[in-house]
Amino acid sequence: MKINTKLLHDYPVIDSFTGASSIPKYQTSTFHQKNVFSHTGFSYTRFGNPTVDAAEKCIASLENANFGLAFSSGMAAINAALFLLSKGDHLVVGKNIYGGTFQSIHQFLFRFGVECTFVDEADIHSWKEAIRDNTKMFYIETPSNPLLTITDIQKVASLADTYNILTVADNTFMTPLSQHPLMLGVDLVIHSATKFINGHSDVVAGFVATNQEKLYQRLKEHQKTLGGILSPEDAWLLLRGVKTMGLRMKKSVKNAEIIAEFLNDHSAVKKVYYPGLKNHPDAEIHAKQCSDSGAVLSFELQNTKQIDALFSNCSLPIVAVSLGGVESILSYPWLMSHGSLSEEERLKMGVTPTLVRLSCGIEDTEDLLSDLEKGLQK
Ligand SMILES: *Cc1c(COP(=O)(O)O)cnc(C)c1O
Repeated sequence: MKINTKLLHDYPVIDSFTGASSIPKYQTSTFHQKNVFSHTGFSYTRFGNPTVDAAEKCIASLENANFGLAFSSGMAAINAALFLLSKGDHLVVGKNIYGGTFQSIHQFLFRFGVECTFVDEADIHSWKEAIRDNTKMFYIETPSNPLLTITDIQKVASLADTYNILTVADNTFMTPLSQHPLMLGVDLVIHSATKFINGHSDVVAGFVATNQEKLYQRLKEHQKTLGGILSPEDAWLLLRGVKTMGLRMKKSVKNAEIIAEFLNDHSAVKKVYYPGLKNHPDAEIHAKQCSDSGAVLSFELQNTKQIDALFSNCSLPIVAVSLGGVESILSYPWLMSHGSLSEEERLKMGVTPTLVRLSCGIEDTEDLLSDLEKGLQK
């Protein structure tokens, strides 16, 4: 079955009791048992719920995985994975990972005695050099945020394999529609489903998918005991949102490709970061592991006056953190996603006061282009 058909048919989409064509919102915390020795398969919603179960089978299908787990947010999914590490273990992670992941490592893992090395994610040698006797996990995020640097998933995963290191990949930016880390040798794939998978900027949710039963069992325990479960209401919204993901992504990616070229040729723009552009240093690696270039791009203007003008004169994209909605989202990493880091840390990551990130929605391309043109005029 191909991906657009899967989005509509390859997981529970029909209620087994009534035939309802939408899995109902099983808005319940607990389940009546006919006797104390057995239950329907569901006993308490923190341990499992039919609406959430359908969402978990959905992500498993999309990632071609044996198992899926749903969480209350991308961060809850990420923490469930990071908590596989124990005191004395060593983690290797790209230096440009998502801010929440960076904070979780600093606030929890370090306090719990886990060691961590941040590496240049685009350089395979720096992953290799970071390996120690106690290295237990490689954590990848490609493309990175907000500069869209690329990590060669297959190379990093195969290096990890040689040293018996677990590999985890945050696949939020590319989505399961265009990048399949599990098929490239990664052990666990993570999503913030808040973004493209739900796609409507109205739900916060996360997923983990894996092919390995042992890992699944451990993460199921984390889901139950850490308690960051997805609610039936949000699972239902997500199941509704995901059905149109194929069409949404197609249009969003097309818009991103056209806008990236437009900005790249624009005299007001200093630099564009988008793996679909030929001038991206790792465009070839990206093309090898993905079927498209995604719907997120960043660009650098010449000065901060232009930033003011852009944000005041563009009226279509909403100005917000987050990405992956049906509406285009314009954000200013310097003060928004990365605003809590010191100036020095931001500059070190390439997050400058003239950098803008655009998550392309499904608006008509012409309208987005003319709106951006208005924002870029002197
Ligand atoms: C948004 C995001 C997260 C965190 O997800 P939440 O759903 O906000 O908890 C993690 N990784 C990436 C790449 C993201 O964009």
